[in-house]
Amino acid sequence: MLQKVVISPRQLLTRAELEAYDPASEPWQKQFARRYTHHSELKDVLNRMEDVNETVYEKFAVSITPYMAQLMDPNDPDCPIRLQYLPSHHEEKKPGFETMLDELGEEGDTVPGTSVVHRYPRRVLFLVSNTCSTLCRFCTRKRMVSQPSGSVHKDEIERSIDYIASNKDIDDVLLSGGDPLTFDDERLDYILGAIRERAPHVRFLRIGSRMVVQLPTRVTPELCAILEKHRVQMVNIHINHPKEITPLLRERVKMIQKAGIMMGLQTVCLKGVNDDVAILRDLFMQAIEMGVRPYYVYSTDMVEGAHHFIVPHQRMLELYEGVRGWISGPAVPTFVVDGLGGLGKLPIIPTYVSEEPLPDGSGTTVKCRNYKGMTVEMPGLGQHFRVPSQSRA
Ligand code: SF4
Repeated sequence: MLQKVVISPRQLLTRAELEAYDPASEPWQKQFARRYTHHSELKDVLNRMEDVNETVYEKFAVSITPYMAQLMDPNDPDCPIRLQYLPSHHEEKKPGFETMLDELGEEGDTVPGTSVVHRYPRRVLFLVSNTCSTLCRFCTRKRMVSQPSGSVHKDEIERSIDYIASNKDIDDVLLSGGDPLTFDDERLDYILGAIRERAPHVRFLRIGSRMVVQLPTRVTPELCAILEKHRVQMVNIHINHPKEITPLLRERVKMIQKAGIMMGLQTVCLKGVNDDVAILRDLFMQAIEMGVRPYYVYSTDMVEGAHHFIVPHQRMLELYEGVRGWISGPAVPTFVVDGLGGLGKLPIIPTYVSEEPLPDGSGTTVKCRNYKGMTVEMPGLGQHFRVPSQSRA
C-alpha cells in the first residue's frame, strides 16, 4: 500500500542520513523544509512501521521534523514519540464512538470575521496560524491545523487585532494556532508589535508553542529579542514525555528564559504514551528543573482519529494522586478536562477534603485525607460547630 510519493531531495531518507544529521547545523527554515510528510518517506529510517491506509491522510496530514524523527526509537512501534506522530489504523472511525471536529466548541465562541476565540470575560485566544512543524495525531484543532480551509488570512489577523484593540476589557491574549512560531521573525514582530501598540490595555501577552519542542532551533537570539521587545510575558510549551527533553531543548529554553520570559508546560494525557505515574513524575520534575512550570495536563479531546489515546477519567484521578505529594509542589500541574462544546477547562481533582453530616444531625464535620491515605477529622471546620464551653472549677 506504500504509494509512490514525490520526494524532496532535501529529505533524509535513510537511517544513516538521519543519524548523521545535526539539527543545530542549519537555520530552522531548512530543517522545516526537510519535514517528512508521508509515512512512506520513513520506510528506510524506522523499522516495524505501520503501513496505513491513504484514507488517514484525508482527515489529517503527516508532518515530522528530522529532529523529532531522531527521537523516535527505530525499532519499537510503541515508542512514545512514534505513537504521537506516526499515523495509525486506529485513526479510522470507530463505530459507536462519538467524535467531533470542533469538540471544544471554539467556532461558536469565535468573533465573526476574526480568528479570536472570546470565551472568558477578560482573556482571548488568538489563533494566528494553522501550521505546525510536526503534527500530533491527537490534535484538538484538526478542524483547522494543516487544513487549507483553516488558514488565517492577513485581513483576518488585522480584524482580530482591531477587535482586541477596541475591547478594553481584554487584558490577557494567548497567541496560538497551529503554532505562532511557524511565522518568520518579521511577521511575528509585526503581530506582537501591533497588539502592543493598538491594545495598550493588554496586560498579559503569551504564546503557546510546541515548535520549541519539535524544532528547538526555531529559538534564536533574534526571536528572543522580538519576544523581549514586545514584552511577551510567557511562553507555554507542550511536552508529553521525558524523551522530548533533550540537551538542545534545554539550551533553547534557557535562551527564552534569559530574555526574561516565564515558561509553562502543557501536557496531554495520552494512553500508551504517558498514562503512567513514573513517567509523569519524571516529566514534571525535569520540567521544573529547567525552570518550566507544569501548568495543565489535559485529557485527550474527543476529536476524530484520537479515540485510542483517551485515558479514562478514573485513571486521570489515579495519575493525579500518584503525582500530588510525591513530587515537588510547584511541579504539580492542574489536571483538566475541556468541557464538550465550549464549557471551558474543568479541574479533575480527587476528593481530599469532604464535609459530612454529624450522626446527631447537629451540623457537619470535615474529613481530610492526605496523599498517603492517612485521614484526620476536623469538626472545627464543619457547619454549626460550637466550641465546647469550659467547665469552671
Ligand atoms: S502542536 Fe498543537 S496545534 Fe500543532 S498539531 Fe500538535 S496539538 Fe495540534
